[in-house]
Amino acid sequence: MATSKVKETKAKTEAAKTKSGATKAKAKASASKAKTKASASKVKASSVKAAAAIKATAEEVKAEEVKAQVTSTPKSEPKVSHYPVLIVGGGAAGVSMANTLRRKSTLLEIALIEPSEQHYYQPGFTIIGGGAYSLKKATKQEADLLHPSIIWVKDFAETFEPEKNSVTLRSGESITYDYLVVCPGLQLDWDKISGLEETLGKNGVCSNYSPKHVEYTWECIKGLESGTTLFTQPPMPIKCAGAPQKIMYLAADRFRKKGILDNFDIQFCNAGPGMFGVPFFAKALTKVIADYGITTNFGSNLVEIDGEAKKATFEVTDGDGKKSKVTKDFDMIHVTPPQSAPDFIKSSPLANAGGWVDLNDRTLQHNKFANIFGLGDAGSTPNAKTAAAVRKQVPVVVKNILRLIKNEAVQEGYEGYGSCPLTTSLNTVMLAEFSYGGKVTPSFPKLDPRENRFIWWIGKKIGFPWLYWYWMLPGHTLDIPSKESYAKEFLDQD
Ligand SMILES: Cc1cc2nc3c(=O)[nH]c(=O)nc-3n(C[C@H](O)[C@H](O)[C@H](O)COP(=O)(O)OP(=O)(O)OC[C@H]3O[C@@H](n4cnc5c(N)ncnc54)[C@H](O)[C@@H]3O)c2cc1C
Repeated sequence: MATSKVKETKAKTEAAKTKSGATKAKAKASASKAKTKASASKVKASSVKAAAAIKATAEEVKAEEVKAQVTSTPKSEPKVSHYPVLIVGGGAAGVSMANTLRRKSTLLEIALIEPSEQHYYQPGFTIIGGGAYSLKKATKQEADLLHPSIIWVKDFAETFEPEKNSVTLRSGESITYDYLVVCPGLQLDWDKISGLEETLGKNGVCSNYSPKHVEYTWECIKGLESGTTLFTQPPMPIKCAGAPQKIMYLAADRFRKKGILDNFDIQFCNAGPGMFGVPFFAKALTKVIADYGITTNFGSNLVEIDGEAKKATFEVTDGDGKKSKVTKDFDMIHVTPPQSAPDFIKSSPLANAGGWVDLNDRTLQHNKFANIFGLGDAGSTPNAKTAAAVRKQVPVVVKNILRLIKNEAVQEGYEGYGSCPLTTSLNTVMLAEFSYGGKVTPSFPKLDPRENRFIWWIGKKIGFPWLYWYWMLPGHTLDIPSKESYAKEFLDQD
C-alpha cells in the first residue's frame, strides 16, 4: 500500500513527505546506532561514527531506495531515526546551511526539521510594505529550495536531550544525530502588546513582521491623505534592527512624492535610546529624520493598542528612569512586535540565561555541547540579527563540522558581521554594514557608507533578493571581505 502511494505521488510537497516517511522507515537500522551515544565530550567517537554513517548512507539518497524503505516499514516500528547531521529550522540559515554542507560533502547524510512549506525572503518585507515589491516574489516553496538529497522532516522540533544526542518532534518521534545545527529563528511576541492580535491587519494597525499582514502596510500608506502615523520599535534584540524605521522613511517619501507630506504628523516611538546601535549610522539617520520632519520619542515602548478607538499606549521611561503611560491617537500605526528566543529553545538545555542558543561568538559552537552549533536569529551571538549575518556564519559552521568529522579542532571565523540596507526613500538606501563592537566594516572601498545611494536601492530590489535565492540558499559561498579599513577615511571625517 505504501509503495503504490509513493508511486502515485507527483507533487513536490508529497516528495518531501516521502523523505519524511523515509525518516521513520530507517528506524530499525538506526535504533542500534542511536544506542551508541556520542556525548558532547565524545566528539571524537562521534566523528568516527559520522564517517561510518556517511559511507553507510551514501546510497540512501537515491529515490528508489527511499521508496523501498517506505514499503518495508512495519507500522509498529519504534519511531527513532539517526542522521550524521541534523538541522533544526529551514529558514535563511537552515536551508543555506544544508545546501552549503551538501556542496562541501556530497555523501554526508543531512536531515532538516522544518514545519513550514513556505519560505519567505523576509528582507523583502520592508519594500512590500512600502509598495515597491510583491509578496509573491518574496515567497517560494521550501521543497524547491532544498537539494533533493536533503531529508526534509516536516515537523516541529520540541525538545532536546543533548546528552543523548536526541531531538524530539511534536509528532513524538525522536531523531538522534552526530552533529546538530540549531537555527529556528526567533519568536515574535505579538501577545505582549495588549489588544494587538485582535486588531492587526485592520483599523490602520499594520506590521511588516507578519507575512499575513505585510501587504496591509502598503494599503494603509496608499490610503492616507493626512493624519498621525506612528512607527514603533520594541526593546532589542529584534531581527533587522533597522526595519522599524525603514518603513517609516518609505511612507514619508511616498507622502512627499504625492505632495502631501506636510499633512502628516509622523512619529518614531522607540523603546531604545537612539536611532541606531552603531553611532556612525545613527548620526547620519538623524539627518534623514530631520529632512522628513519626523518627531522622535525615545524610551517609548508600545504596551497596548485599542484599534477601534485608534489609540496606542506607551510606557515611557524618562532620563531618570521614571516610568509613565502616554496614550497617542493614530490614523496608522506600524508595529514592530517584541521578540525573543523561541519558547522551545528558552526551556531547553541549549539556552543561555537570556534564552538564546548559547554559542561561542566566533566559532558558533555551543558553549556546553561540542557537537552542537547554532546560527541565525536564535543564536546568542551579539551581532545584528540579519540574513546578511547568516551569509557569513554558514561557512564557519560548515567548516567546523567538517573539521570535527576529521578529528580537527574547530576554528574561529565569524567576526560578527551584519548588515542593514536602510531604505531612506523609495529610490535610495544607506548600506549599513558593521561587525562586533559596532565596528563599521563596509564591503566596498571608497564609498562613504553614510551616503543614500540609488545603486543600493537597486541592490535592495533586485541584487540582494537574487543573491539570496540563487547564491546563498543554494549553498554557494560569497566571500566578499568587509573591512574596517574601507571605512577609515569616513570615520575620520565623522
Ligand atoms: C521586516 C523584516 C525586514 C528584514 N530586513 C532584513 C534586511 O534588510 N537584511 C537582512 O539581512 N535581514 C533582514 N531581516 C532579517 C532576516 O530575515 C533574518 O535575520 C533571517 O531570516 C534569519 O534567518 P534564520 O534562519 O535564523 O531565521 P528564519 O529565516 O526566520 O527561519 C527560521 C525557520 O525556523 C523554523 N522553525 C521555527 N520553529 C521551529 C521548530 N520548532 N522546529 C523546526 N523549525 C522551526 C521556521 O518555520 C523558519 O522557517 C528582516 C526581517 C524582517 C522580518
